[in-house]
Amino acid sequence: MNDYNAPKQLLRGKTILITGAGDGIGKQAALTYAEFGATCILLGRTVAKLEAVYDTIVAAGWAEPAIVPLDLNGATPKHYQDMANTISDQFGHLDGVLFNAGSLGHLSPFAHISVEEWQQVMQVNLNSSMYMLQPLLPLLEKSAGASVIFTTSSVGRKGRAFWGTYSVSKFATEGLMQVLADEYKNKPLRFNCINPGATRTNMRAKAFPAENADTLKTPADIMPLYLYLMGPDSAEVNGESLDCQPK
Ligand code: NDP
Repeated sequence: MNDYNAPKQLLRGKTILITGAGDGIGKQAALTYAEFGATCILLGRTVAKLEAVYDTIVAAGWAEPAIVPLDLNGATPKHYQDMANTISDQFGHLDGVLFNAGSLGHLSPFAHISVEEWQQVMQVNLNSSMYMLQPLLPLLEKSAGASVIFTTSSVGRKGRAFWGTYSVSKFATEGLMQVLADEYKNKPLRFNCINPGATRTNMRAKAFPAENADTLKTPADIMPLYLYLMGPDSAEVNGESLDCQPK
């Protein structure tokens, strides 16, 4: 589905929450979902980045988005419940969530990983998804066919030396997706993972500082799969972990 050619109105009338919407892949996904008709809820840590995405969407004449500034590292279940209440008041339902925000932490030998860093990376990459999703489930169940997309990585399928916390967090993300996909398999609510593959962002540059970024796909290049999985053409796809750049 990496050559998926989405119809221009694919996401018209849909309300979609994107985490980490201020930068990298999440920013591009927010712009793309808005371009294809969605009303986007932009969640992220840095308000100025979210405002820049908001301004781009409004200037393009797409549906006006909402902004949710939230640091996933400090947020508590109460923050997520309050957010769900606000979304419920404003929109009444939710048609999709892209769990995209992620933290790489520091790549290091397992023996050197600090407990603090382990907890922070797990909080952002895994725990926040659980805390956020629980209060959003009733809103997602009000949609005619909501799509929840988690973001995985190739190190979430095969462990790699020195990628300790990040790698384990992505394995757990795949597990979370599978549990949910099985629980909801008889409902019009589906759960899948996307592995973006090597993509030109700040996170990739941090992980591979010596790499020539010009050789990498851009976030815009990998959007066909993000559109396919969020839209109704993938209504039957549930419990899959799909690659934007299959080998
Ligand atoms: P970036 O680092 O470019 O962007 C990550 C986004 O997540 C930023 O908007 C960032 O906000 C946000 N974020 C990070 N920590 C928090 C936090 N505590 N609270 C709220 N928001 C936070 O990463 P990518 O775009 O490259 O990565 C997107 C996803 O894709 C991640 O899940 C990553 O693991 C995954 N991935 C990426 C690959 C790649 O090659 N790029 C390969 C495989 C997987 P802010 O800008 O404010 O810091």
